[in-house]
Amino acid sequence: MAASSALRLILGSSSASRRQILSEMGYKFTLLSADIDEKEIRKEKPEELVVALAHAKADAILEKMKNNGMMKEIVDSQETTLMITADQVLDHAKCEVCSGADETAAHIMFGCPFATSFWAALHITMPREMATTQLCDLRPPSHVPPQYYSTFLLLCCWQLWKRRNNVIFRSQQDTLQTVLRSAREDSRLWGCRLPIDHRHISLSWCSLFESAM
Ligand SMILES: [Zn+2]
Repeated sequence: MAASSALRLILGSSSASRRQILSEMGYKFTLLSADIDEKEIRKEKPEELVVALAHAKADAILEKMKNNGMMKEIVDSQETTLMITADQVLDHAKCEVCSGADETAAHIMFGCPFATSFWAALHITMPREMATTQLCDLRPPSHVPPQYYSTFLLLCCWQLWKRRNNVIFRSQQDTLQTVLRSAREDSRLWGCRLPIDHRHISLSWCSLFESAM
């Protein structure tokens, strides 16, 4: 459906995917975020919770519009205005990336199939049953510099976390190549934080990610 300029649209959301959906449909809209504490609002049933959240967001945005003069401007212009607020909640704890297990920190970092393929590409064996708190106790394999190994592991986990967020919040399925490339870029950046005579370690990380591509 083509966008209609007769209707003024306000998207009351900070969600990137909702913004993208409306833009792709050709709509022009004003973006306002409610900035409410969603954890304050609780309902037993998910279907009631999303409605309560959407209402709370709309109320907060109307208040903002009164304060910033937008409300007066709309009333004066007599434009028909539609405000869209929405929310989504999960009624299960399953991993949204693979739906194969509950989404625990350990699952995201070691158990999710993407994470498994990531570590395998780097020839790093992760214990199947391990808490993320045990990461710093792991011994480095011979092909990874032993110095700053826990930093290296954090850098890897950071990539897995970013990839997971891209799937969930942007509907973007980054490939292993993309994630390894991003890891290589981040190695360069993170290397700048190492003492100057240890910077060569980040170069080893770069080549490790490169050889896994
Ligand atoms: Zn998973």
